[in-house]
Amino acid sequence: MFAADRYRDRVRIPVRDDLRALEGYHSPQVSVSVRLNTNESPTPPPTAWQDAFAAELSRLEWHRYPDRGAVALRTAIADLHGVDPSQIFVANGSNEVLQTLMLTFAGPGRTVATFEPTYQMHGQIARVTGATVVEGERNDDFTLDLDVVRRICAESSLTITFLCSPNNPTGLVEPEANVRAVMDVAPGLVVVDEAYAQFADWSAISLLDEETPLVITRTFSKTWSMAGARLGYLIGPSWLVAELDKVTLPYHLDAAKQIAGRLALRFVEDMEARVQHIVSERERIQRAFAELALQYWTSSANFILFRPTSLPGRTVWQALLDRDVLVRDCSGWPRLADCLRVTIGTTEENDVFLQALGEVLR
Ligand code: PMP
Repeated sequence: MFAADRYRDRVRIPVRDDLRALEGYHSPQVSVSVRLNTNESPTPPPTAWQDAFAAELSRLEWHRYPDRGAVALRTAIADLHGVDPSQIFVANGSNEVLQTLMLTFAGPGRTVATFEPTYQMHGQIARVTGATVVEGERNDDFTLDLDVVRRICAESSLTITFLCSPNNPTGLVEPEANVRAVMDVAPGLVVVDEAYAQFADWSAISLLDEETPLVITRTFSKTWSMAGARLGYLIGPSWLVAELDKVTLPYHLDAAKQIAGRLALRFVEDMEARVQHIVSERERIQRAFAELALQYWTSSANFILFRPTSLPGRTVWQALLDRDVLVRDCSGWPRLADCLRVTIGTTEENDVFLQALGEVLR
């Protein structure tokens, strides 16, 4: 009998019942000349970083497992934030940090809360771990509705409450008073996803301490210009980091990535200069938006959410693509009818985008 016959009845093993409706996370990778859809840095890391990385790579012992504790990298990150290395957990992108967090503290029988619209992966990863997700709605202007937060925290026995600051896709930073208010009522752990924090003027890092059930997640994918490396981290109480260390796979961080991240932190000034430039470009685009037929949300991140008012969002997205400019189409997302999200690019890319958008909307 051929294998095909022998296994016919069970070749398509059904996925877990609770995952059947899962749609996955879609962000098309289209080949265009101006790519402003995934909030990456528009420019690479400094040449001096590339040289230092190449030099260390040439001495790497490829036949050996990497440092399992990623001690040098964790220490460098801890120094950056003035905390102890035992308060730092590192993984392959902040998405994997979030996944490890949820494998450890969410999962079947546990409930997590998100406030929508927000970063879709919070709910998605929680569901993959088998947790129940309670979605609270934000106000009409997408600020956090503290009454909704209080109601959900009172009604559901939450193990994790998610905030995202600045929030993706709205770009709104969560004011300190809101984070404190959530920490006051949330029954479990509060996670503040700060993937875009360096573009904002406030971070919840100042609220962290060993006795507070608060963690902050960060990434090298945006401000550090290293989306290709897949590196992210968490800062939190050391007891919590020790639990994550038990759950993650042995040697999950490869040796090259550990070097890449450690060396990146030698170039803080370059990073800050890049951030400053992106922030000034963001302000320029927002000023230009004020002249166009569209609504936009004032951003504290490296992207801006906007809604054309004279044409359907999808039409504008396609017309921009026809002009070789790719932005994120959020128009099908709940509460974001007709909305698009543009990542801040280089000055030249932003010029092309604004020119194309002007043509489309006029
Ligand atoms: N959090 C937020 C809010 C994001 O927007 C992203 C990237 N889209 C991530 C986390 C994940 O980033 P990475 O896995 O590249 O670190």
